[in-house]
Amino acid sequence: MTMSLRDMTQAECFSVLEESRFGHLACSKDGQPYVVPIYFAYQNGIAYAFSMPGRKIDSMRENDKVCLQAQRWQAGKSWASVVVEGRYQEFPDTEVWRSERLHAWSLLQKHSDWWEIGALKPHELPVAAKSPHVFYGILLREVTGRTAAAVE
Ligand SMILES: Cc1cc2nc3c(=O)[nH]c(=O)nc-3n(C[C@H](O)[C@H](O)[C@H](O)COP(=O)(O)OP(=O)(O)OC[C@H]3O[C@@H](n4cnc5c(N)ncnc54)[C@H](O)[C@@H]3O)c2cc1C
Repeated sequence: MTMSLRDMTQAECFSVLEESRFGHLACSKDGQPYVVPIYFAYQNGIAYAFSMPGRKIDSMRENDKVCLQAQRWQAGKSWASVVVEGRYQEFPDTEVWRSERLHAWSLLQKHSDWWEIGALKPHELPVAAKSPHVFYGILLREVTGRTAAAVE
């Protein structure tokens, strides 16, 4: 079996992102790349995600240039992979960002098996400034995709 590889259209890339819940997030601090698996929800140019404080948040706060990769496995050995280059935007626990924060939560909580997000209740969201939960978005700057399909 041979595989044929092609670049995806922008519309195809968005379609993979919209369906995806899981990806690999790459960030970089002091010239050291760091990649971790995360869950996310993509809508209208923003990949919404959630985290507790830690290395990736420290890294993205210092260097907001990030990369997100997601993929779809198709019939047989076929696959489609999308790479997003974007900018980290935190939705802090303040009035100004409250609606984005709630929007992120509402998208993420739809999937109850998602990491710890399913355990959060809306009323636990940010009332006080000390909430440790970090909601953020990857604002899409550029997206590319490649897909491979088996050719008989
Ligand atoms: C299926 C899946 C879904 C996930 N979804 C989310 C999500 O939606 N949001 C989220 O914040 N996290 C998610 N995680 C966990 C995520 O991959 C990180 O482990 C976690 O967020 C901690 O990252 P951090 O940068 O804060 O690490 P820290 O807690 O600061 O970690 C310190 C060190 O631990 C090591 N480390 C941390 N995470 C990993 C890892 N995954 N693999 C190997 N070594 C590691 C690194 O060397 C790092 O320097 C998910 C993991 C899986 C497997």
